[in-house]
Amino acid sequence: MIQGTIAIVGRPNVGKSTFFNRLIGQRKSIVDDTPGVTRDRIYGEVEWLTKTYRIIDTGGIQIEDQPFAQEINMQVDIAIEEADVIVFLVSCKEGVMTDDIAIAKKLQKSGKPIVLVVNKVDNEKLRLDAYEFYALGLQDPFCVSSAHGIGLGDVLDEITRVMPEKKLSPYEGMTSFCVIGRPNVGKSSLVNAILKEDRVIVSNVEGTTRDAIDTPFTYDGQEYMIIDTAGIRKKGKIYENIEKYSILRALSAIDRSNVVLFLIDGSLGIREQDKHVAGLAHEAGKGVIIVYNKWDTVEKDEKTMAKIEKEIRAQFVYLDYAPIAFVSALTHQKVNQLLPLINQVHENCSLRIQTNVLNDVILDAQMMNPAKPHNGKQLKIYYSSQVSVEPPTFVLFVNDPELLHFSYKRYIENKIREAFGFEGTPIHIIARKKS
Ligand code: GDP
Ligand code: GDP
Repeated sequence: MIQGTIAIVGRPNVGKSTFFNRLIGQRKSIVDDTPGVTRDRIYGEVEWLTKTYRIIDTGGIQIEDQPFAQEINMQVDIAIEEADVIVFLVSCKEGVMTDDIAIAKKLQKSGKPIVLVVNKVDNEKLRLDAYEFYALGLQDPFCVSSAHGIGLGDVLDEITRVMPEKKLSPYEGMTSFCVIGRPNVGKSSLVNAILKEDRVIVSNVEGTTRDAIDTPFTYDGQEYMIIDTAGIRKKGKIYENIEKYSILRALSAIDRSNVVLFLIDGSLGIREQDKHVAGLAHEAGKGVIIVYNKWDTVEKDEKTMAKIEKEIRAQFVYLDYAPIAFVSALTHQKVNQLLPLINQVHENCSLRIQTNVLNDVILDAQMMNPAKPHNGKQLKIYYSSQVSVEPPTFVLFVNDPELLHFSYKRYIENKIREAFGFEGTPIHIIARKKS
C-alpha cells in the first residue's frame, strides 16, 4: 500500500537520478516488472520504517519540443500536481544557480511540503558550502552525498515527518473505478457514455473548488465513483501528450480505485503500449476488467468475439482472471453491461471465504493431486486461511515454504477460483511454515 508520493525536482546534473536510485535501493521499480518496459525508470517505491512511498524522478520525464527552462518548469508543475512531498535537490558543487532560484519561487507558491536537499556533500568540509542555500528562502537544507549514500536517512525521516496523513481508501462504502489505456483508446468517451446511462444519477458536485475531481454517482441504488485520470487539465494538451506523465496519472488513479477498466482500441487491435498499461493494472492488485472498445468499428461474424478473446488471453496471460467486455463508447452499444460487471468484480475482490470451507477445498485439491516431491521432500499443506481482501490473500501453513513451487501455487489458485469464483480479482497466495 502506497502511503504517499514523493517527487524529486531540480536542475539537470544535480544528482536526481543518483538520489532516486539510492532510495529505491535494490527494490525493482514497478516498471521493471512490467513486460516490455526496462529502461528510463522514473518511478519506484521506497520503504522507510513502516511506510511505503511512491517516488518520482521528474528529471526522467522528458518533454519534447520545449525550451530547456520551460522543460524544468513543466517538470516542477508535474511534481506540484502529483506529489505529497517535494524533494528539491541542489548541488553544493555548483552553488546557487539562477534556475535554482526560479524553482524555489515556484515551489514556495505551491504550498506543498518541500524538503531542500543539498547533494554532493561528499565530506564534512563541503558542509560549509551548503550554507549559501539558505538564500533560497526555504527551510534548513539537508546535506547528502547520493554517490556515497550519506545523509539519506535524515531526509527520509524529514519526508515522513512532513508527509500529510492520507486516507488509504478515500472512497469507503462506494465502488470506485478508473479507466486507463493508451491515448485515444476512448477513455473520456467511455466515462461520458457511462455517466449518460439510463438510471445513472450524477451527484451534485457544484460548489466544490477542486479543479480535478472524481465524479460520484448512483446506479440502481449503488454508489460509484469514477476516478479522474486527466491530470493538469487547465494547461491543456501538452501535458496529456507526455507519455510518462500519463503513466503517473494512471498510477495515482489506480491507487484510489477498487476496479480498473483497461481499455483496448478495437479499431486498431492490441498494441505494444497496451502491455505497459495492462502491467500497471495487474501489479496494483486491484480488480481488472478488460474493455475492448470501438466494437462498432470491428467487422464481425459469429466467430469474431471468440477469436479476439483468444488473442487477448494470449497477449495478457497474467490477466487471465479479468473478464472481457466488448463495447462501443461512441454508439453506447453494451456500455450498460459495465456497471453491473464493475459491481460484481468489486464484490469478488472483497469476498471472504470461511476457513472451514476453504480448508475443505484445499485439502481436496491436495488429495487429488499431491505436490511432486522435490529432492525427496514433499510439500504438505496442513491448513490455510484467508488473511485479507482486495486482493483476496491466502496463507497456506506448510511443512516447508520452499517446497511450494510456482506451478503448484497456480494449481491451488485455480482450485480456489473453481470453488469460489473470484472473477476479476487477482489472488495472492503465501506459504508459511507451520509452527
Ligand atoms: P540528474 O541529471 O539530476 O539526474 O543527475 P545524475 O544523477 O545523472 O548525476 C549527475 C552527475 O553527478 C553524475 O556524474 C553523478 O555521478 C554525479 N553525482 C550524483 N550524486 C553525487 C554525489 O553525491 N557526489 C558527487 N561527487 N557526484 C554526484
Ligand atoms: P482518450 O484519449 O482515451 O480519452 O480517447 P477519446 O475518448 O478522446 O477518444 C478518442 C477518439 O476515439 C475520439 O475521436 C472518439 O470519438 C473516438 N472513439 C471513442 N470511442 C469510440 C468508439 O467506441 N467507437 C468509435 N468508432 N470511435 C470511438
